[in-house]
Amino acid sequence: MKVLVINAGSSSIKYQLYDMPRAEVLAKGFVERIGEPTSRLSHTCAGNSTTLEEAVPSHETAMELILKVLVKPGEGAVADLSEIGAVGHRVVHGGEEFTGSVKIDDRVLDSIERFAELAPLHNPHNLVGIRAAMRKLPGTAQVACFDTAFHTSIPKVAHMYALPFELYERHRVRRYGFHGTSHRYVARRAAAMIGRDKHDLNAITCHLGNGCSVAAVRKGRSVDTSMGFTPLEGLVMGTRAGDFDPAILFYLADKGYDLATLNGLCNKKSGLLGISGVSNDMRTLQKRAEEGNDRAALAIEIFCYRVRKYVGAYSAVLDGVDAVVFTGGIGENSSLVRELVCRDMTHLGIALDPKANAEAGGRESAVTVPDSRVQVLVIPTNEEQAIARDAFELVGGNGEPGTV
Ligand code: ADP
Repeated sequence: MKVLVINAGSSSIKYQLYDMPRAEVLAKGFVERIGEPTSRLSHTCAGNSTTLEEAVPSHETAMELILKVLVKPGEGAVADLSEIGAVGHRVVHGGEEFTGSVKIDDRVLDSIERFAELAPLHNPHNLVGIRAAMRKLPGTAQVACFDTAFHTSIPKVAHMYALPFELYERHRVRRYGFHGTSHRYVARRAAAMIGRDKHDLNAITCHLGNGCSVAAVRKGRSVDTSMGFTPLEGLVMGTRAGDFDPAILFYLADKGYDLATLNGLCNKKSGLLGISGVSNDMRTLQKRAEEGNDRAALAIEIFCYRVRKYVGAYSAVLDGVDAVVFTGGIGENSSLVRELVCRDMTHLGIALDPKANAEAGGRESAVTVPDSRVQVLVIPTNEEQAIARDAFELVGGNGEPGTV
């Protein structure tokens, strides 16, 4: 069965076409700058890349274009759209309702719309992508895969804030967590790598990309995570502050900063960019730090210190840790970050192998010495594959969604 995976953002749609259950990528690409005169589709199939520059006024036309290129003789991946057995959609917020991926029906659409209040920057765009796909492929099953789903197993003790309880009851204020598909994927891969049943793995998974989060995984289920009611909480990120004293906001409001400015400060101007004043990009910061830029070096140190604090905290939360996993653009590629996070952690059973760490380079690999009690693993994430598997399992497979 062919499964099309769709990730619809505000001005872009990314797609991958999978052949399941082999999980082979037949074609992939993205439409960017939807709604602008300079929109563009980039498509890769069987090693050949093509680019199409034409005005794409809406997500609907973007979907049309994607489906057209997928069946284009010579460049496409299928002879006919009827070969696509399911479409899997990334959806950011599933609230407390969706504990796993689901086939989309009217009730699911309503819920995704309802949760748009909790994820105003994402759910509305996800929904537009789903509706466009439903119209263009009316007979094909559509599946939603939620970023929040893996974290619905987090118990009250970890997901409730110490705010008045009625804020939870009336306004659904609680920790939801994000990046769930990635944390789940790498946790399952980690179990496979160290020869454990996926329901028997205790791990701390660190997703370090532009957005960053850590999850504590007990017996294969998420029991805590660093992102909260929104993706702002937790680790230092490219442009987000992560944890800080919220009273700073009241103080700044007194000084005349308005809400929109404060929101922009915390989400767009903080993090690695805010500290360094140089860039939100870890590669650039590492280069500038090497060249002697002190604030770039400080930003990296603060970033790593925060990850380290969470690894320590989650070591206390879990009754024993089998593996610490690094994933995301930074986690997979920066040996420096892994080293700064994990150095001098033998008291927690973590003994990094400097050579293995330096050579890990974005492949699945263990980077601890053989007798390290806790294994440190580098695992490239693959959220699209996880979505394709869920869609396949829900529509045609025999297993359960969430099997990697
Ligand atoms: P997103 O969260 O948008 O998917 P990625 O997971 O691709 O982002 O992560 C982007 C981050 O990964 C950037 O900060 C980038 O600098 C960093 N990164 C990518 N390659 C490397 C590398 N070789 N060394 C250090 N950082 C890297």
